[in-house]
Amino acid sequence: MSNPLITGYDDFKHNCICQSCGEQFSIDLLIPDELWAKITPKPETDGGGLLCGSCIMKRLEKLAYEDGKYDYWKLTKDYEV
Ligand SMILES: [Zn+2]
Repeated sequence: MSNPLITGYDDFKHNCICQSCGEQFSIDLLIPDELWAKITPKPETDGGGLLCGSCIMKRLEKLAYEDGKYDYWKLTKDYEV
């Protein structure tokens, strides 16, 4: 899917493919292991799987809904690659 907010996005080099929606993405979000175990698309693996940011949020929203509570996250950039 192209990103309507970024001109030339389709030509941008992507490194990852989401294992839920199949979209390519280039920003990796690091999730705490215990939480990742609840949302991973590959529960049969130990910590495996790839999800784009959109699918991570959809799965976190589902968890929050199932828990019946509002949740919030602080997004920080840990390091440069
Ligand atoms: Zn996705």
